[in-house]
Amino acid sequence: MKIFLKELKEGKTDFSYTLEDKESEELFKDSEIKRVNLNSSGWIQRKGLDYIFYLHVIGSGTLICARCLDEFQFFFNEDYTYNIFLGKDPSISKKEYNISDRDVASIYVENYELNVLPLIKEIVLLTIPMKPLCKDNCKGLCPVCGANRNNKNCGHETKETYSPFTYLLKRIEKKE
Ligand SMILES: [Zn+2]
Ligand SMILES: [Zn+2]
Repeated sequence: MKIFLKELKEGKTDFSYTLEDKESEELFKDSEIKRVNLNSSGWIQRKGLDYIFYLHVIGSGTLICARCLDEFQFFFNEDYTYNIFLGKDPSISKKEYNISDRDVASIYVENYELNVLPLIKEIVLLTIPMKPLCKDNCKGLCPVCGANRNNKNCGHETKETYSPFTYLLKRIEKKE
């Protein structure tokens, strides 16, 4: 989905866009989030050759819990404001370019064509936690038998630390 900056009238132009299934699949195929459904909306404000872009992304997708390895539905609702600069991204300014600066980010647009999909992808990926959990109190897998302790109580005594890798390591040890 592209916005052609040259064609925009002065002032604010609203837009909204819903990702099609195929588009979403393609966009997120190399990332950990799957089956993403999302709506994007926002506006571009043009004043001469100055453009400000506001983007709101809301939706959900499927992630794998870092503790119990089950899939779960992850919801996001984020908005970003960008200053648009026309031309090539000057490598000198890269140092100052700070993606985690949530207030206003900078994007460089060549040929007056603003490609919105990469921005949407970036926003979604930034919201995914380092260690996604299906719920805060996920009990994880039993390190003895590998049962998902959210679903059943296998009765094994275990210590405080839950990690799916403990179970995996045990399986590897057994094989050897
Ligand atoms: Zn879990
Ligand atoms: Zn167990």
